[in-house]
Order: sequence, then structure tokens, then C-alpha cells
Amino acid sequence: MLHLLTPDEIFPSLPEVDLERLQRRGVRGLVLDLDNTLVAYGGREAAEPVLVWLREARAAGMRLCILSNGRPRRVRLTAERLGLPWVESYTKPRRRGFRAAARLLGTRPHETAVLGDQIFTDVLGGHRAGFVTVLVNPVSRRELPHTRVVRAIERLVFALLLRRGRIDREAWRLRTS
Ligand SMILES: [Mg+2]
Repeated sequence: MLHLLTPDEIFPSLPEVDLERLQRRGVRGLVLDLDNTLVAYGGREAAEPVLVWLREARAAGMRLCILSNGRPRRVRLTAERLGLPWVESYTKPRRRGFRAAARLLGTRPHETAVLGDQIFTDVLGGHRAGFVTVLVNPVSRRELPHTRVVRAIERLVFALLLRRGRIDREAWRLRTS
């Protein structure tokens, strides 16, 4: 079970995700979480470094789409504003949405990476679908009350991953700083 919760890659934020590193792993498609990955929770505007990174990803030949558990209307409006295709809302970590995203991108699972801020939706669901999983820190501290509970459990999982040697201290520092 623990391997399903271990991100393949950890970066402090989306703009710091190393695209060349993902390409060396064979990744050609990126499935992006919305809330607290692309934009702050409940927000619609992405920060300038995120927009720059999206342009770089496109220029590098990456295919991109959004997969979010957020309200469909908000997901659609935000995706349109960012000029990104999106997958109709499914419930991560169920495989269905991830498979639909890979179909949309035209990539096979092992060529597809999910980028998100949560272990129990983005990382778990990505692994279940056979994706490369990339964890980033949340954009803001503002979250749903239930997400705060999830974060407390995530911290316990991270401590366990560190103890078992599944992540290194640097990754731990990135996540907890
Ligand atoms: Mg999120």
C-alpha cells in the first residue's frame, strides 16, 4: 500500500517542476490538478510563474490537461481561461478520470504524469492508473476544513515514508517547510 502513496517526484511548486527530467523519464503528457496546484484554492487566476511554466511545457511538446475534483463549472471556466482542455469531473483517486485524461492526451499511462498537491487523490490515483506521479506543495494554506484533516494524515504518511526510506530528507524538508 505504501508504494501507492509514494510520489515518484517531489517539487516545491508547479513552476519548479523540471520538465526535462520528466521527459527523460519518457513523459509526454501532463495531467494537472487545479486547486492548490495551478491556482490557489477557490481562485481562478494562475500566478505569472505558472503561466510561464505552462508555455514552456507546451513549447517542449508536452500535452496538457486538467483533472480536478472541483465543481465542474469552475473547472471549466478556469480551464478555458488558461487555455487548457479539461476532463469532466470524476472522483480522484478513482482510475476512471485518469484514464479519460490519458485518452484525451493520446498518451499511454507510463508516458503520462499527474501533477498535484495531494497524496490521497493525485498520487494514489495516479499510481493506480499507472502514471508517473509528481507531488508539489499547495499554492496556499487556504483549504476546505476536510482537507486540513487530510493534511494531518498526509504528514503522518510522510513521516512513515521518510522512516521507511521511500523519500529522502530533502523531499521531507520541501514538504514540511
Ligand atoms: Mg489539489
